[in-house]
Amino acid sequence: MFSEDLLAGEVAVVTGASRGLGEAIAHRLAEVGADVVLTARSAERLEAVAESVGSGTGATAVAVPGDVREMEDVSRVVDRATELGDGAVDVLVANAGANFHSPIAEISENGWGTIVDINLHGTFRYCHALADALTAADGGRVVTMSSVVGRDGAAESAHYAASKSGIEALTRSLASEWAERNVRGNCVRPGLVATPGVEENRGVTAERIDRSDVDRTLGHPDEIADLVTFLVSPGASYVTGQTYTAEGVPEGAD
Ligand code: NDP
Repeated sequence: MFSEDLLAGEVAVVTGASRGLGEAIAHRLAEVGADVVLTARSAERLEAVAESVGSGTGATAVAVPGDVREMEDVSRVVDRATELGDGAVDVLVANAGANFHSPIAEISENGWGTIVDINLHGTFRYCHALADALTAADGGRVVTMSSVVGRDGAAESAHYAASKSGIEALTRSLASEWAERNVRGNCVRPGLVATPGVEENRGVTAERIDRSDVDRTLGHPDEIADLVTFLVSPGASYVTGQTYTAEGVPEGAD
């Protein structure tokens, strides 16, 4: 679908790349020529994904384990990426995220803080730490990851919904502030997509995807990776500050 030299010579950082959407995004960006720095906490799984991304595409794929809540870890990832890009980083995909379900009345302050820290603050930390490197690139691009829950809210997910709404607002603000730095910023807002995280949280698996039925509500990680790839491509050069919903059926169709 995309030409294999679309992002040739570029460097991309993908957070939450050890599985799920981040893994698919890292694969897709490498397939179109980008060198990719992958990060997540589980070192072993991350190494295996980086190995597969590199060997499958010929791109450089580097695993730098780290927690988006730890500034020291973020700095290590940023240092490795700027080293790879000679001071410039072309693309940031701030995808790492987490959730658990709890009614508002029962959620602890610690539980609330953890989800906001990973999702919203983690996204901020990467944008903040990569600001100079993205500016040094010839047109840097940021893609952040929201959720339809950030738009609609959801019972037992107020903490997650609030963090995702915050990411959308952060992205719009970043886009207007960084336009003069020639950096574009957009946000992707997926519906339900078959990933290990969704399987753990909700017991929904990829086998549920039956597109012969018009029930297209469960997406495949590659479909989100394709949207991200478009948003960081020259094809989206006039697009910034937007949030793109990918949910298979239009809102309110059922
Ligand atoms: P998964 O749970 O399958 O993967 C999450 C990724 O984030 C893993 O690589 C995980 O790695 C990493 N991660 C989690 N916590 C941290 C942390 N503290 N520091 C660094 N990395 C971390 O999730 P999905 O692939 O399903 O989701 C990816 C993103 O898309 C998330 O932001 C999610 O909210 C969003 N999303 C997903 C939807 C879906 O239906 N799948 C729908 C809407 C939005 P590790 O555990 O090794 O750190």
